[in-house]
Amino acid sequence: MQKQGFTELLYLDDSYLTSFEAKVIETVEGGVILDRTVFHPRGGGLISDTGEIIHSKGTSIVKEAVMDNRGVIHLLEGPIPRIGEVVKGQLDWDKRYKIMRMHTALHVLATIVINKTNSLVTGNQVTSENVRVDFSLATFDRQVFEECIEIANEELRKGREVRITYMERDKVLSTPGLVKLADRLPPDIPVLRIVEIVGLDIQADGGPHVRNTSEVGEIVLTKLENKGKSNKRVYFTLK
Ligand SMILES: [Zn+2]
Repeated sequence: MQKQGFTELLYLDDSYLTSFEAKVIETVEGGVILDRTVFHPRGGGLISDTGEIIHSKGTSIVKEAVMDNRGVIHLLEGPIPRIGEVVKGQLDWDKRYKIMRMHTALHVLATIVINKTNSLVTGNQVTSENVRVDFSLATFDRQVFEECIEIANEELRKGREVRITYMERDKVLSTPGLVKLADRLPPDIPVLRIVEIVGLDIQADGGPHVRNTSEVGEIVLTKLENKGKSNKRVYFTLK
C-alpha cells in the first residue's frame, strides 16, 4: 500500500472502491487529512474526485482533493470533523468512472499517436466530460489524427486488460519508455505504480483506470487546435 504523507492511497490498488472508512489525522484550512482515502486528488493531468464525508457533525461535500507532503487534503463544504474521529467517505462514482474511462482512452490514443508521428505528449487534462492532450508536432494533419482515433477505437474494442503493478524507482528510470512525463514522477517515492495496457502500452502512472479497455467506449474527436510551432492540441470525448 502506497502512502502520501499520512494518507494511504487506496485508489492505487483498486480504482473501483467507492466508499471507505478513515480516521481524521489533521484539520487544515477548510479541509481534513485522513489516514486513508479513495479520493484521487487533482494531479497528473487529472481533475480531482468529488463526493462526501459523513461524520459526527453531519455530511460534508468534498469539493476537491489536493495532495501535499502531509497527505491528501479533502477540501470540504460543510462542518469539519474532529481530529481522531472515524468518518465515512463516499465518491461521486458516476464522475469518477467517466474520468477512469477518459484516462484509459488517453493512454491508448497517445500511444498510437506517438508511435505513428514520433511525437511526445507535452501536457494533458482529463475531466469527466472530455480530454485535452498536447503533442509535440510541427505539422497539423487532421487526417492523421482521425486515422489514429480509428486505430485507437479498434484497440479499445479488443478488450485489452489494464494491469497495475509496482516497480522500484531506479528500475523505472533505467527502463526506456516507462516515464512519459518525467516532471510528473512523484518525488521521494522508492516504488512506483506501473499501468500496463497489455500488449499496447506500459508506463509509470498514479491515476485511476478501468480494468479492461472494453469499458471505455468509443473515442470521438471534438476539436483540433494549433497551439504553436511545435504544439498541436487534440480534444476528444467518449460515446
Ligand atoms: Zn495517465
